[in-house]
Amino acid sequence: MEERVEKVREFAGLTDEEAAILSSFSSLPMDTADRMIENVAGCMPLPIGIAVNFIINGRDVLVPMAIEEPSVVAAASNAAKLARRTGGFVAKAEPPIMIGQIQVIGIKEEEFGEKAAAVEAAKKELLAEANACDPVLVGIGGGARDLEIREVRTPGGRMMVIHLLVDVRDAMGANAVNTMCERLAPKIEAITGGRVVLRIISNLATKRLVTASVRYAKEDLGGEEVVDRIVAAYMLAAGDPYRAATHNKGIMNGIDAVVIATGNDWRAVEAGAHAYASLGGRYTSLTRWWKNDDGDLEGSIQLPLAVGIVGGATKTHPVARVCLKILGVKTAGELAEVIASVGLAQNFAALRALATEGIQRGHMELHARNVAIAAGASGELVEKVAARMVKERAIRIDVAKKILEEMKRHAE
Ligand code: NAD
Repeated sequence: MEERVEKVREFAGLTDEEAAILSSFSSLPMDTADRMIENVAGCMPLPIGIAVNFIINGRDVLVPMAIEEPSVVAAASNAAKLARRTGGFVAKAEPPIMIGQIQVIGIKEEEFGEKAAAVEAAKKELLAEANACDPVLVGIGGGARDLEIREVRTPGGRMMVIHLLVDVRDAMGANAVNTMCERLAPKIEAITGGRVVLRIISNLATKRLVTASVRYAKEDLGGEEVVDRIVAAYMLAAGDPYRAATHNKGIMNGIDAVVIATGNDWRAVEAGAHAYASLGGRYTSLTRWWKNDDGDLEGSIQLPLAVGIVGGATKTHPVARVCLKILGVKTAGELAEVIASVGLAQNFAALRALATEGIQRGHMELHARNVAIAAGASGELVEKVAARMVKERAIRIDVAKKILEEMKRHAE
């Protein structure tokens, strides 16, 4: 582990203090934790693994991933290694526009058009009012950009919903947008004669999409037959929500791990991803895979990614700060581009394993150590018990307990 930390330190130019934060197993000071949330009584450490081999938009990137599940980091690194041969991942984030929703009730249906026109007419004034909330954001080129007026049918009748579009620059943006929405509410009530209820960001960040793509040469995958099998495996996710849920879960293995390592809000990212996957009226895959004219495999991912490099816990959590430095990203958009690429790599790794040898062999070999620990093994015995289970192709707690007892008996 020391060697790994040293390599990361050299690659990312970490200071001694930053390297110490990364490699410590208690890097969140109690008083920082106590200020982050309420009723703090402890913390929940997760391992951070460094995914290697990634080239993203021509740049070598080391990717810190915070995750409790074995084999995710290895799978991402393997997928990235194969992608290096064709130049790696190409990713593009749209401008960081978030949507805030202002819900207005009590407008008569026949007056809807007239009230919408009144809001439209006051747009300039409303945007100025929103921007007055956040001079910092406006000062760095962000701020409220536009208003969109929607009429939404709900089980409780038709409602006016005003979308406030805000360029949140390098923030995730929820606090910034919520503050603006709350500020506009009284003016909107005065203009429409309706009553404002909700004033809150939408996690379905369709104006902040990120796309990443990759190509795998057929000879690197073991021939065109493997390409066909991977495409067939993807097709099931495209057509069947039962498969799409698992397919997207695999994608989120990679995405969440980076989102968590960087102190970002993974519930927001999860909500956005799954809502986006359902936007066509039917839950489907976040990625697409196809065979190109040369018989090679090509894939792409598109999803909303509301992540920041400022705000939230990104700057307060010392480990998040170090992880952002390791990633070397200068903007929230660049971070989103890395995250989307990792999601695509993770999906490729899962599809490839599933479409060929199945995931259990690789996964269970890595999982064997956890099973050995759960059975009570410690120290050297963890590896020994795990290795025996792998050899016997029986990775189960009862088997681990039996092997452990046997080993202990022999040692006596
Ligand atoms: P924030 O309010 O902590 O930081 C954003 C602010 O930082 C901006 O408003 C701006 O004033 C300032 N800033 C300085 N430099 C900036 C730069 N380069 N780019 C952008 N802003 C800059 O954080 P936030 O991103 O507005 O909100 C994120 C937090 O909101 C997260 O902790 C999230 O969990 C939480 N949250 C989420 C939801 C949701 O997703 N539904 C709802 C409520 C709160």
